[in-house]
Amino acid sequence: MQTAAPPEVRTTCPYCGVGCGVIARRGGLGGVTVRGDPDHPANRGRLCSKGTALGDTIGLEGRCLTPRVDGVDSDWEAALSQVAARFSETIAQHGPESVAFYVSGQMLTEDYYVANKLMKGFIGSANIDTNSRLCMASTVAGHRRAFGTDTVPGNYEDLELADVVVLVGSNLAWCHPVLFQRIMAARAARPAMRIVTVDPRRTVTSDSAELHLAIAPGGDVALFNRLLAAIADRGAFAPDFVNFHVSGLSQALNAARADCGHTGLSDAEIDAFLALWIGTEKVVTVFSQGVNQSSSGTDKVNAILNCHLATGRIGRPGMGPFSVTGQPNAMGGREVGGMATTLACHMDVENADHRDAVQRFWDAPAMPQANGLKAVDMFKAVAEGRIKAIWIIGTNPVVSLPDADRVRDALARCDFVVVSDMFATTDTARLAHVLLPATGWGEKDGTVTNSDRTISRQRPFLPKPGQARHDWDILADVARRMGWPAAFDYAGPGDVFREHAALSGIAAGFGLDFDISGMGSQDYDSLVPHRWGPERFFGAGRFYHPGGKARMVPVSHRPPVAVPSPEFPLWLNTGRIRDQWHTMTRTGRSARLSQHLAEPFAEIHPDTAARAGIGPSSLVQVTSPTGAAIVRALISDRVRPDQVFVPMHWTRGSAPSGRVGPLLAAVIDPVSGQPESKAGIVRVAPYGPGFHAFAVTRADILPDTAYWARVRTDAGWRIELAGEVPGDWVAFAIGLFGPGDVTSVIDPARGIARVAVLRNGLLQGALFAGPGPVAVSRQYLSGLPGQVVPDVLSGRPGQGVPDPGPTVCACFSVGLNTILSAIDTGGLTTVAQIGTALSAGTNCGSCRPEIAALLARSVHREAAE
Ligand code: SF4
Repeated sequence: MQTAAPPEVRTTCPYCGVGCGVIARRGGLGGVTVRGDPDHPANRGRLCSKGTALGDTIGLEGRCLTPRVDGVDSDWEAALSQVAARFSETIAQHGPESVAFYVSGQMLTEDYYVANKLMKGFIGSANIDTNSRLCMASTVAGHRRAFGTDTVPGNYEDLELADVVVLVGSNLAWCHPVLFQRIMAARAARPAMRIVTVDPRRTVTSDSAELHLAIAPGGDVALFNRLLAAIADRGAFAPDFVNFHVSGLSQALNAARADCGHTGLSDAEIDAFLALWIGTEKVVTVFSQGVNQSSSGTDKVNAILNCHLATGRIGRPGMGPFSVTGQPNAMGGREVGGMATTLACHMDVENADHRDAVQRFWDAPAMPQANGLKAVDMFKAVAEGRIKAIWIIGTNPVVSLPDADRVRDALARCDFVVVSDMFATTDTARLAHVLLPATGWGEKDGTVTNSDRTISRQRPFLPKPGQARHDWDILADVARRMGWPAAFDYAGPGDVFREHAALSGIAAGFGLDFDISGMGSQDYDSLVPHRWGPERFFGAGRFYHPGGKARMVPVSHRPPVAVPSPEFPLWLNTGRIRDQWHTMTRTGRSARLSQHLAEPFAEIHPDTAARAGIGPSSLVQVTSPTGAAIVRALISDRVRPDQVFVPMHWTRGSAPSGRVGPLLAAVIDPVSGQPESKAGIVRVAPYGPGFHAFAVTRADILPDTAYWARVRTDAGWRIELAGEVPGDWVAFAIGLFGPGDVTSVIDPARGIARVAVLRNGLLQGALFAGPGPVAVSRQYLSGLPGQVVPDVLSGRPGQGVPDPGPTVCACFSVGLNTILSAIDTGGLTTVAQIGTALSAGTNCGSCRPEIAALLARSVHREAAE
């Protein structure tokens, strides 16, 4: 008898803040197929490379499936009894300020709501903060200063309707790819549309822009102050809007006129920007982590908002400031009050009326009178012993926070650490006294809010594995055990959502923006994506400060806290790569996503590299005042000569020496508390190991060398290694791959060794070592473990078999060499032609900007020949 196929389930992508709708279906053998939801307003069927590969990431390998207490498998009864007892005892002995929750923008709104209610209403502290503090806290603070609430005025359609889109501190093509594709499609339909990027690096996003401003680190306030002054000088104010709806113009303008801050841009570049911005009414200024992750992040946000307020270009189609959030539910966390500086439903901890209303609604015994500790301060308090019990949910602060090694030390010394996570082996989970198995994407059930205020359901289509439970459920269970059974008696996430919706109605009674009370009466299971609030806010004024006026905030250029010195002469910029997400706990499980950039790297300008004696593809030591890292040198004029860029994704489990967190000082914005992750200071120097090597292996291995970085392949793992030359290469290889039949070519005089280990004729692993960076066909070799391979030691495909080169298109595994060859031999000149010939770029489209860059490079090369 044929069994019916499992139904398709409409859910939401768990990665970036675009919040794309996904249709998922369980297939045979535990697999899952995904496709973009054509009816979801965020993506209309599109998905980027990460979303497309979601089905690769759902296996149970590495999952935390059982509660563990002190490293030993336990059960829920014992684990949660201990959590409740230890938190209760700590609060009884040391007060509510001695405990903390550190949560995550990965959590669903329902999870966030229960965590916030437990900490703020029942424990009586505001010590709950979220990794969204690292993402968009400066935007929250800037919005609140300007608008009186944390309101995103516009929506995604505005980015398509604009005549000029300015992207400030945003590599949208890699970090919010579907939104970038929407802009690209809009420009293709309206070629007069213009794109400007403001970014110290020339990214693939900048490659698609008509104007790229390679601004100096921290120069954004000075640039937008120049813009505000020019708006005044050219009579571009919107007098009616300003007179009726805005206060603070003269103070903001005086500050702008007095600002001589360094932008690093030529007068011609600035003039071009001013002319385009001022001369185009429909302008949207999009800003992201490059603005937020700064010691002057809140001022940067307000510098941008000032210009839109002064011109009245806000809340109307195709114009306005627009922040894009990094995480899938950063917005939901903001709405629900999941930060130490907010209450719930956009209410304030420090507003007595708001506090009283929430306390009555929750029937809560204790409410904090003041804001709690923000993320960086929270972990300082852990280090100093002021926080004695901490519960970390769905995040990996040992990797992601600045000065990460201090965070690790602090947690290692903390009296009681609880971690709830999908995975048992994250760098943070390893430090837990109690480790609780949580559900993940595909199992979770709740809602998320994306960057344009659209609330969508994340629905389960997989059973909960092992003993895993939902975060809201775990938190409510602990709350009941701590003595509050009635307040946390939820039968399901729908109950939590309805309570949250009802509370938003009370917030609306204070005249606040966030009101989803109408959604509370709808059937939770069948909720469709819904943007809360009007299509746009503030087109007709009506801001949320007393008196209803927006406030322009006087801001002045402040350089980053640490500036380059003779000892640390370079700026350190950090960020994401196209195919990985955060600390790679999920995307790192996908072989296809792991091939694009398979190793941590430092992008270094050719002049800087030459001065430091750093060669192409060599290893480089990056040293800051707080730590050091060893990464691969990627020499490129895409970065300024005074800057290096290092991505953020690698961990102790993937590349222990390639972690960027230890390089960053714990410097924060004084208003938002957001760390300065884009402007550290470092020096770079060659790292000269005894050997470099590349290895492929069938089994999951952890090398014991000074440097290693590994990613998954379809056949096993590929690993880059470096370190002290071993005395016996064959023994070294057997130590890596296990015993077996060995074939080898070893030339001690030249320091070259190639060793393969086979069992039953099948390749278990192969090592290619030399005194310098090893040139072999990595893509080809990556597919060989587990195969019968006659001549693996050549390191290359046999004659007549093309070497595809590094992956460009992850969806169809199309390599760089394949694309370049098609350009050269096929005379291809457009991305569409390459798509037709190779399929590259025809699925998710995330690689199209890189293909376009390869085409441009090819044209330049021909022109030079
Ligand atoms: Fe997911 Fe990509 Fe959409 Fe972001 S753009 S939500 S990562 S599919």
